[in-house]
Amino acid sequence: MNYIKKITLAQLPTPLHGLPNLTHALGFSGKLYMKRDDLTGLAAGGNKSRKLEYLMADALQQRADTIITAGGLQSNHCIQTVAAAKKLNLDCHIVLSGEKPQRANGNLFLDILAGAIIHYVERPKRNQRMEELAEALRSEGKHPYVIPVGGSNALGAVGYVMAMKEVVTQLKLMNISCDRIIVASSSGGTQAGMVLGAKMTGFTGKITGISIDRLKTGKGAFPPELAELGNKAAALLGLDISLTPEDFELEYDYLGDGYAVVGNNERNAIKMLAQTEGIFVGPVYTGRAMGAMIDRIQKGKWKNETILFWHTGDMAALFDYVDEL
Ligand SMILES: *Cc1c(COP(=O)(O)O)cnc(C)c1O
Repeated sequence: MNYIKKITLAQLPTPLHGLPNLTHALGFSGKLYMKRDDLTGLAAGGNKSRKLEYLMADALQQRADTIITAGGLQSNHCIQTVAAAKKLNLDCHIVLSGEKPQRANGNLFLDILAGAIIHYVERPKRNQRMEELAEALRSEGKHPYVIPVGGSNALGAVGYVMAMKEVVTQLKLMNISCDRIIVASSSGGTQAGMVLGAKMTGFTGKITGISIDRLKTGKGAFPPELAELGNKAAALLGLDISLTPEDFELEYDYLGDGYAVVGNNERNAIKMLAQTEGIFVGPVYTGRAMGAMIDRIQKGKWKNETILFWHTGDMAALFDYVDEL
């Protein structure tokens, strides 16, 4: 296996613990656990911290002085990237899809506090704008490093290959036999890394991605993209593992009214977890995934299973949804 350089940005290992009150409230016959990647400690925490440990190491190795990345207005990826850049003394440009709101809140407010240079564009123009910014900076003699949306390239996915190693060790120490991991899935680096990491470590449970905004078939179908990403990460790591779209299990029933739109599914899940366990999931990703898990369990699925919900962050975005929640 190849060694890939990383820097420390996250507090690892993140905690893993049970959710006894939620299990009881749902009358669930199995067991529920949670992996707390909301507690990585970089800005408001979240899954992008693990990817950034590899991406930022690469940026430093390439002598970058400026980081450029992109996301939605409440992007957890962007605020964690901004925080990492500031910690490493780098400038940070973020390209956000949408119009500049009158009042910045949640992660956007944190982006501004941390001095990110923010560009607002329409969603389809994000990648083009990142390239234009990089070009402009290069012509000024600067050294920009572009990180794709969600940090989801092969290098970013390596963070979640290693996360599987971490969780497998924890589960063993705690004597937990895990049947299923549930995780919010969107740009794909997290699930692609996990599925590769599962094969690498011999983890035998299922990994169920809850699609936040992606479709199974049609243009830009998600499973082939996940397999490609996983295979690129395998090549980087020098692993003799080959993934196919069939290696990726996803639920597509919880897309609601679209990306970042809160509905009853998210609203109920956020309140139920907070009121039973005192833990907050967010409006865009983890509330949707938690809602999906609750719904499946309430419909009698996954009986007697030991399920691990992977909390990927998103709490700071709640503050932009005061009126919807
Ligand atoms: C980005 C994000 C995800 C999805 O991870 P991907 O690697 O983009 O699929 C899930 N949860 C939260 C809180 C996120 O910010």
